[in-house]
Amino acid sequence: MPRARSATAALLRGRCPRCREGRIFASLVRMAPACAVCGADFEREQGYFLGAMYFSYGFGVALLAAPVAVLIFADVDMRVTVGASALFLLVAAPWLFRWSRIVWLHFDHRFDPLPDRAARKLTAEDAREPARTRT
Ligand SMILES: [Zn+2]
Repeated sequence: MPRARSATAALLRGRCPRCREGRIFASLVRMAPACAVCGADFEREQGYFLGAMYFSYGFGVALLAAPVAVLIFADVDMRVTVGASALFLLVAAPWLFRWSRIVWLHFDHRFDPLPDRAARKLTAEDAREPARTRT
C-alpha cells in the first residue's frame, strides 16, 4: 500500500490517517463508514466521535476570538456581538463538524491506530460466541 502523502497532507486533504489515500467524507457532512482504499474503520464504536467535540469547540473559539475581541473593543452592542457570533457558528457548523472529525481521526490514529473494518466485525462475533454456547 503506497504512502505517498505525509500525515499532514493527508489531514489537510481529509484523507484516511492509515493509508492517507481514501476519503474520510463522501460529501460535506456525510462520512464514509470505512476507508474505501484500506478498509480502516472510521467509527470504531458508538460515541467514538465524542472526542471530536473538543476539537470542534477549540476551532469555534479560535475562529471567534479575534472577531469578538475586535467587536468588544470597538464598543459594539453586546447583543450584536453575540448575534453575529451565533450566526457565524451556525454557518460554520458543517465545516466545524467535518474538520473536527478529520482532526480527531488523525489525532486518535497517532496513539491507537485504526482497526480494519473486517477485523473488527470478526472480533465482535468472537466476543458474542461464548454467550451463544451457554444458552
Ligand atoms: Zn485508508
